[in-house]
Amino acid sequence: MYQSQFNANFVGGNLLIVSYHYTSLSEIQTDLRSGVVSCRELVAYYLKNIEEKNPVLNAFVAVYDQEATQRAEEIDQKIAAGTAGRLAGMVLGIKDVLCYQNHGLQAGSSILNGFVSQFTATAVQRVLAEDAIIIGRQNCDEFAMGSSNESCAFGVVRNAADTSRVPGGSSGGSAVAVQADMCLASLGSDTGGSVRQPAAFCGLVGLKPTYGRVSRWGLIAYGSSFDCIGPITKSIDDAALLLEIMAGADDFDSTVSQQPVPSFTQAVAKTTVQKQKVAYLREGVESEALQPEIRQAMQAKLDWLREQGHEVEPIDFALLSYILPTYYILTTAEASSNLSRFDGVRYGHRTATPVDLMELYKKSRSEGFGKEVKKRIMLGTFVLSASYYDAYYTKAQKVRRLVKNQTDELFKKYDFLIMPTTPTTAFPIGDKTEDPLQMYLADIFTVQANVIGYPAISIPAGTDAQGLPMGLQVLGKPFGEADLLAFSKYIVAKEPASSLA
Ligand code: GLN
Repeated sequence: MYQSQFNANFVGGNLLIVSYHYTSLSEIQTDLRSGVVSCRELVAYYLKNIEEKNPVLNAFVAVYDQEATQRAEEIDQKIAAGTAGRLAGMVLGIKDVLCYQNHGLQAGSSILNGFVSQFTATAVQRVLAEDAIIIGRQNCDEFAMGSSNESCAFGVVRNAADTSRVPGGSSGGSAVAVQADMCLASLGSDTGGSVRQPAAFCGLVGLKPTYGRVSRWGLIAYGSSFDCIGPITKSIDDAALLLEIMAGADDFDSTVSQQPVPSFTQAVAKTTVQKQKVAYLREGVESEALQPEIRQAMQAKLDWLREQGHEVEPIDFALLSYILPTYYILTTAEASSNLSRFDGVRYGHRTATPVDLMELYKKSRSEGFGKEVKKRIMLGTFVLSASYYDAYYTKAQKVRRLVKNQTDELFKKYDFLIMPTTPTTAFPIGDKTEDPLQMYLADIFTVQANVIGYPAISIPAGTDAQGLPMGLQVLGKPFGEADLLAFSKYIVAKEPASSLA
């Protein structure tokens, strides 16, 4: 029973809105089955939270209130008839980079003003087919480029733990929506940390699957060889379930793996974990540059793992300082190409009175894109230009391969690699906007998984002295999400983090 106080509020004439404190879908489904709650009541509760909290937090840029309410009624009928899908009762938000047919889509950018999706992303289609209810579209950094959700046509998103601070980015709206109980879970995208870093800043679980595990069809492209769709949830069970449903081969995306999708839900249902070989990044635990509480939290978790009999050893990753530059060279290169399609002809914004075609392109793009996106397009164009291609782009590709080879070697010896998700907890709004290098350093620990395509998860690891959430990151073997999720659940369950307690 997860009901708390009653509010004397009525919607639709006769619906009493109750406050719930659900932290996983299985809790909801237990109550749905016993009639303690209905999907209709759940949606009313989340909508009320959105109405109350969104004006300050700015997590949602569009709310599908009527549609979600209607769908909830339909799913309630399916539950009564015994025909409901596996996600019945899951109220979801989706990041503003995922196509949902006949719904607006802007990637947080003015250049897509008025754009409406023509089709639905495969991942979204699959959760809908299992009866998830999509409650709205969530704020993010423009074209998913950012670490703080401050670079966005819809304005900044605020962290619900402290509204003077950022929620992380680029899936900041998706994280805050779950943190502030405006929906149960969100679908975000992670090109260099955009699911894990905001999850860490908001005390949630954020999962980036192996590259190619989930179809990118219908995801607005940023860096196509890095982009992954991933869930942000309150529980590892929900992350496992959502991944299981979204994953797998798709005719619309040739980069999706044909590998069979194991049952991630079964994997996290196991109650025992074998002795594991765990490496941790020495610099990620001992460095003076880390916020002290994060250092202590990491140390405590590692000590606990040792006490449980796991083999826990420090490793030094010689290429660590090269990973971030590699990431920014390659993603800006890919972005400059991907974003060339936004030309004022086919999509969204078009300048008012161009004198010729060239001016139409130039003005539409100058007016439509924000500062950070323009900077990255220019950087990407530069590293791909004939005179600099070898010096930057080719070299970065070689480093990417070296990082992959070295990590592959490491994982021959170890099962998991642990490091913090971020070097600090959520920083104040405006703190890093004038210093891009500092902003990019927020991703120092998250980009490696994307550079090499490995799966990685951020799990809650307590709070700092100011009550701000911290995240612990675990990297697993490619297509080893089942083990990664099971091990992460073991870490969280054996020593519950505050927000999951
Ligand atoms: N913060 C990183 C960037 O700005 C990662 C973004 C992402 O994962 N989409 O590129």
